[in-house]
Amino acid sequence: MNILNVIEVIVAIILIIFIVLLHTSNKKLKLYRVVFLEITLVAIFGHVGYNLFFKQPTIEILGDKKIVIEAGRDYEDKGAKAKLRGKDISKTLKVKNEVNPKKPGEYKVYYELIYKNKLIKVERTVYVKDETAPTLKLKGSSTINVPSDSEYEEEGYTVEDDVDGDISKNVKIDKKEINEKQYKIIYTVCDKSGNSTVAERIVNIVNPVKKHDKSKNGYVYLTFDDGPTFDITPKILDILKEENIKATFFVINYTKDKEPLIKRIVEEGHSIGIHGNSHKYAEEYQSADHFMDNVYTMEKKIKDVTGIETKIIRFPGGSSNTVSKYYSVGIMTALTRRVLQEGYRYFDWNIPSGDSGDVDTSEAVYNNVTKNLGKDYPNMVLMHDFSGNKKTVNALRDIIRYCKSNGYILDKIRDDTPMITHKVAN
Ligand SMILES: [Zn+2]
Repeated sequence: MNILNVIEVIVAIILIIFIVLLHTSNKKLKLYRVVFLEITLVAIFGHVGYNLFFKQPTIEILGDKKIVIEAGRDYEDKGAKAKLRGKDISKTLKVKNEVNPKKPGEYKVYYELIYKNKLIKVERTVYVKDETAPTLKLKGSSTINVPSDSEYEEEGYTVEDDVDGDISKNVKIDKKEINEKQYKIIYTVCDKSGNSTVAERIVNIVNPVKKHDKSKNGYVYLTFDDGPTFDITPKILDILKEENIKATFFVINYTKDKEPLIKRIVEEGHSIGIHGNSHKYAEEYQSADHFMDNVYTMEKKIKDVTGIETKIIRFPGGSSNTVSKYYSVGIMTALTRRVLQEGYRYFDWNIPSGDSGDVDTSEAVYNNVTKNLGKDYPNMVLMHDFSGNKKTVNALRDIIRYCKSNGYILDKIRDDTPMITHKVAN
């Protein structure tokens, strides 16, 4: 309550007393009546005079006088209201906002106006605090496999802090052994306000991937890509069954009505692998993450239908394809590394049948395969069970018989099959 309110209350009380006194007939009070009347008049004039000549504007801060905000967010000041004799004079207010929401600290916002050469000023205090920890993102996978004969190479990370920006230089890396075959890499980063973030990567030490294994020389691995299809896959399965041969099918994404084909491949003892989702290069190779998401999706899909968790991959176009560079430079270098780290193995081929290219007769398919078979290496034969590929169906039995009669061992890709890989070119 300010002085003005006090005066108003006193005047009101005096008036009430005066009115009461007017209604009494006691003559002794006559003098008092006059005195009261004078006091009342003085009070009324005083009040009006004060209002006219001495009353100052008031500034009222809107919102809290003390505010705490998180650094990095925008600060919007709610402002203040200025009044003089009940009139809004906020337009004459000047606001001096010193808040820097990006930098933690204590700041003032001043609201001021000049009235009759006198500065009238109020202030708000804004505390900017950084209580948000930095975001630390690991590049590569959070669980990776490293062959026991090679070194772990740091995949890297990015750090973004809402106040300090890129503070990836401040990351501390520790290594903690879990057991003989597994350890943890612990990444810790702290921003200037002491908020810290921790991330972990699990490293599994695995057996070296077999690329050369003399014991598999002279083996023939028949592989069929791009299926399953209703017209070709069953015919290939029939021949394999009749010849009592196991082979490998690298499948692309399939509709629900093809699930029986997937089941049949597995039930008849063949290996199933992941070829890709759409087989459209632009879609498959837009990014390593996108490709891997497709792999995970396919893996789950195959598992849901067959119960088999497949960890073998054939890249569309092979790991040596160069078409992928139009969509993502370096993606094959990244993917060939990453699939191994995530426990997958990928297989290219060294015996192309040519059945997806310019070869258009079963004789040519037969010749392409048989002329390149060798006993000094494992033979990874690339064929296709895409729709309409009759030439391969027609050549298959002869190829199998040629292998059998020339001392080759026909087998499917297994855990101990050495990886046949091309030289990565993107
Ligand atoms: Zn393919």
